[in-house]
Amino acid sequence: MNVLEICRQKLQEGGLRLTRQREQILAVMCEHQGEHLTREGISNLVQQEYPSVGKATVYRTITVFEKLGIVSRNNLDERVRYELADPAQAHEHHHMICLACGKIAEMRGDFLETQEQILLRDYGFHVVNHQLKFYGYCRDCAKEQEL
Ligand SMILES: [Zn+2]
Ligand SMILES: [Zn+2]
Ligand SMILES: [Zn+2]
Repeated sequence: MNVLEICRQKLQEGGLRLTRQREQILAVMCEHQGEHLTREGISNLVQQEYPSVGKATVYRTITVFEKLGIVSRNNLDERVRYELADPAQAHEHHHMICLACGKIAEMRGDFLETQEQILLRDYGFHVVNHQLKFYGYCRDCAKEQEL
């Protein structure tokens, strides 16, 4: 299943339709997969390709997508950012944030399955998601700082 089909299915489950505008916004987000965009950023990109889609529609749609788990919201820096949720992964991927240049990189894989089992075993806590941020220096900045 591609992202569009998954999105259509999730909207349907939420009792909503994949309208033309929702599809256009989704298409733009697919083109920028792996990026972490602000609402303004998404709106600007959408308007470049589809000038008829207004900012308010984009913002509303992002909220709908977020509720349905199509996009995830991250507080990676001082801005609220959105990205397409990875349908192949049950939980969110992790992020590496460079303290020097501000670059946000992604780390694939969960790596927390053991911790999730411990939380369940010792605390009776069922983990459904998590957000993990690593702060440090990217390869280029580490070299510059001779780390
Ligand atoms: Zn996990
Ligand atoms: Zn850096
Ligand atoms: Zn990410």
